[in-house]
Amino acid sequence: MEAQKTSYDLVVGLEIHVQMNTLTKAFCNERNTFGAEPNTQVGVVSLAYPGSLPVPNIRHLEKAIRLGLALGSAIASTVYFDRKNYVYPDLPKGYQITQDAQPICQGGSLYLSSSGRNVRIHHVHMEEDAGKLIHDQDPQATLIDLNRAGVPLLEIVTEPDLFSPEEVYEFITEIQQLVRYLDVSDGNMEEGSLRCDCNVSVKPAGSSTLGQRCEIKNVNSRRFARQAVEAEYERQVGLLTKGEQIKQQTLHFDKERRLTIPMRSKEEAHDYRYFPDPDLPPFPVRQDEVMRIRQEMPALPWEIKESLQQKFHLSEEDALTIAGHLHEASFYIRVAEQLPSDYWRVLTDVFIHKIKPLDPEDKFPLSDPQLTDLCTWIGDQRVNRTVALSTLWDAWLLTPGQSMESMAHRLNIIQTDDESFIKDLIREAFKQFPDKAVALKEGKKNLIGLFMGEVMRTSGGKAHPQRTRQLIETLVQELE
Ligand code: ADP
Ligand code: MG
Repeated sequence: MEAQKTSYDLVVGLEIHVQMNTLTKAFCNERNTFGAEPNTQVGVVSLAYPGSLPVPNIRHLEKAIRLGLALGSAIASTVYFDRKNYVYPDLPKGYQITQDAQPICQGGSLYLSSSGRNVRIHHVHMEEDAGKLIHDQDPQATLIDLNRAGVPLLEIVTEPDLFSPEEVYEFITEIQQLVRYLDVSDGNMEEGSLRCDCNVSVKPAGSSTLGQRCEIKNVNSRRFARQAVEAEYERQVGLLTKGEQIKQQTLHFDKERRLTIPMRSKEEAHDYRYFPDPDLPPFPVRQDEVMRIRQEMPALPWEIKESLQQKFHLSEEDALTIAGHLHEASFYIRVAEQLPSDYWRVLTDVFIHKIKPLDPEDKFPLSDPQLTDLCTWIGDQRVNRTVALSTLWDAWLLTPGQSMESMAHRLNIIQTDDESFIKDLIREAFKQFPDKAVALKEGKKNLIGLFMGEVMRTSGGKAHPQRTRQLIETLVQELE
């Protein structure tokens, strides 16, 4: 298979459904809440009672426009809604309200930094979610939870511009980060806030004609998307190598077997009979509102990354890591602005090694002034960096209310340049390693590290490093 693989190019286009974090549903004032008791967030509209009428949610529209502006899309001047008709138990109305012919956002692109290329966005449209069928609670029956029915969605449709499973993974990651920055969605894939259909085709290497595509439905993690695309590539290349043709199909990804499996044709067959929803007449998008949304646009991930690199001299890799979440990046920037520039390195260190790895749930145990103090103390060499980022950090997480000063005193880790204290420890170390001490005296300079380490250890990180180094150099000359 390896040999054939190189003779086929992979092409992927994505359709990403983003569940929005509005307070209420897309066309009524029922609550949009995840995780509530089944069928408690429902009313006459989601239940499709005769005579109930939909009312568009202005926040749904605003957030769609915000996402469109961030992607550089053209914003339509009129909002149109269509009905997509199908029968399924999770859809009491018998149709889903969506935008078919005239989506709110058209065109646009998103930059993939790993490949240095823009992925073109075909469009972004507004629609509503369906309810949820639950198959695993009752052995006899399928249960229906309509809390999700009518939850506002955006669907982002890309052009077929992704060329590897890694690019698919990266693109979803970027979208997830973007919708979180924009406060459009929580982006939680495990809770279904971001779901993805992957359209996959292969073509002879270098050919400009696209192959027949298959669509893998409803992939709910970035990792599964990468695996599913990989598996589908293998399947299609396998068929072509055997001289068979690819037929357009809808598939689902079997995570256990890591295979893409055709769905039953009944599930595939659709003729949705789209038509304009007569209950939702078209209405204009006000240009002054679009201007306002543009003006109130929060910082975008790539702007933050750029500014971390330019303003605070971070490496691209560190900037990417810290820009991952807006609240973290803002935290970094606020604290960095309080610190002299030669202490930014310390701050970056604390972020990469201590703050990033924390569970996102209990993310910010420290306040801005506490983190500023921590970096200042390390930078001023009032506490040893290693001790501060281990003993002190761990203790601080348990009692986050304390000040840096009181923590340092309590743990007795304030560095000292008290000569007699340091000298005693150096003499001890010389006694421990008499041969090495002699060798150092005779010019084996790199042995100083051994004695520095020893004194740091025995002083519990309290010995001032520069002072210690000087004293080792002086004392070693006094050796007999
Ligand atoms: P439909 O409207 O039937 O869903 P579209 O042509 O709008 O089909 O495409 C839907 C998605 O499939 C888009 O993300 C698009 O980029 C992708 N796509 C279309 N053709 C191909 C292809 N040959 N290979 C891979 N992806 C494709
Ligand atoms: Mg489609």
